[in-house]
Amino acid sequence: MVWFWILLITNESIIMCYAIPGRIEAIKGNRVIVDYFGEKKEAINELKDLSIGDYIYAQGGYVIEKVPSDYALSVLDLWRESFFNLQKLDMSLSSSVLPRDGVDEKLINILDRLIYGGSASRKDIGYILTISDKKSLDYIYKTANFLRQKHLKNSCCVHGIIEISNQCSCACAYCGISSLNQGLRRYKMSVEEAVKVAVDAIDRYGFKALVLQSGEPADKDEFIEYCEAIIQGIRAHKAVFLCISFGEIGLRGLERLYKAGARGMLMRFETSNENLYSRLHPNKMLASRLEHIRYAIELGYLVFTGALIGLPGQTIEDIVEDIFLVRELNAEMYSFGPFIPHEASLLSKASPPDRDMVLKVLAALRFVDYKDARILVTTAFETLDPEARRRGLLAGANSVMLNITPLEYRRLYDIYPDRAWSETGVEEQIESTLTLLQSLGRAPTDLGVR
Ligand code: SF4
Repeated sequence: MVWFWILLITNESIIMCYAIPGRIEAIKGNRVIVDYFGEKKEAINELKDLSIGDYIYAQGGYVIEKVPSDYALSVLDLWRESFFNLQKLDMSLSSSVLPRDGVDEKLINILDRLIYGGSASRKDIGYILTISDKKSLDYIYKTANFLRQKHLKNSCCVHGIIEISNQCSCACAYCGISSLNQGLRRYKMSVEEAVKVAVDAIDRYGFKALVLQSGEPADKDEFIEYCEAIIQGIRAHKAVFLCISFGEIGLRGLERLYKAGARGMLMRFETSNENLYSRLHPNKMLASRLEHIRYAIELGYLVFTGALIGLPGQTIEDIVEDIFLVRELNAEMYSFGPFIPHEASLLSKASPPDRDMVLKVLAALRFVDYKDARILVTTAFETLDPEARRRGLLAGANSVMLNITPLEYRRLYDIYPDRAWSETGVEEQIESTLTLLQSLGRAPTDLGVR
């Protein structure tokens, strides 16, 4: 197989494609059925002039843009061979023949049920999270990987994240950029700067889905206006799936940014345990967080949500509830990462969880939602374990995020210490990601749609 991924050389710049053009097979109201080399997916469509037979890019479940047929066919030609070769490699790495020697019997029974289409109960997931022997752990990860491949094939979302500001008015006990950290230099990109970084990510690197992130603003109105200008500025230039991650900006704020063109919202609830939530988030309530998440879904946002793993005071039962809460919320993507103590935070003396607990949670998310879930390998996990991306993708995950914030700002987005990729240029991140995905038989595309 040619080692190149899909590099299109246009006007002397190299574009890496994170999406494969699909052909519209059917249109049903605001939903379209899209064909990708024989695989059918459904997407939400807001374009007015779409007809059967047109080619489109879809990302995160939304039709992003219509693409000219001759361009689409040339991209599909480039993809054709590698698409099927990658699928073959992925299938061989996620084999259904799982070695059972020495594996916990009860675990085998639970996972067999899932393999044959059953569902996991809270008790099952609680049991899985207590497993600690190596053979059984391997069995958990391999089963999660098998279920991912069986139901969702080999596509892996590759999103870019831009941290537009590290200003924050909150005092979350685990966070290094909370308002309590008075020693941190604060920044806020100008509208023009943020638009330029996003446009570069789209034009130069081919990103089709971007997350815009910041701390939670003190002056919400002023901040919403600023974000509207950024979102409109990006959308005026290019079609892209834009996801916001700004904390609790208020329900009107969500409405305004949806109107401006945002279609995704990343907001973790961090823990489903109300008491723990209140202890970690002074003057905040879990109910308000969940209200934001539910309202965003009602408005039409695709929601990425999840929790922290290993918070001081968190129990296995709490983590089980976190896992079932994201399922109940019907979130589009699950984002669960380890708690990592920051020296300037209130939890500076606490310890992070061990690697296997994080992997077990990723696998458990796959077990409760094996047909649909996009599960992210978080940067926090990559900070805890340099092999996290590979291990996570082989334990049920199918999504990664690259940090494309300019380096001078990225260093200041200091939510936990020694963040993975905090000193790595965008090209290097892309190369490393694509090399890894290729070695695992994954296509860096988001065919996905529920
Ligand atoms: S977790 Fe988010 S809201 Fe909380 S202090 Fe950190 S940046 Fe602010």
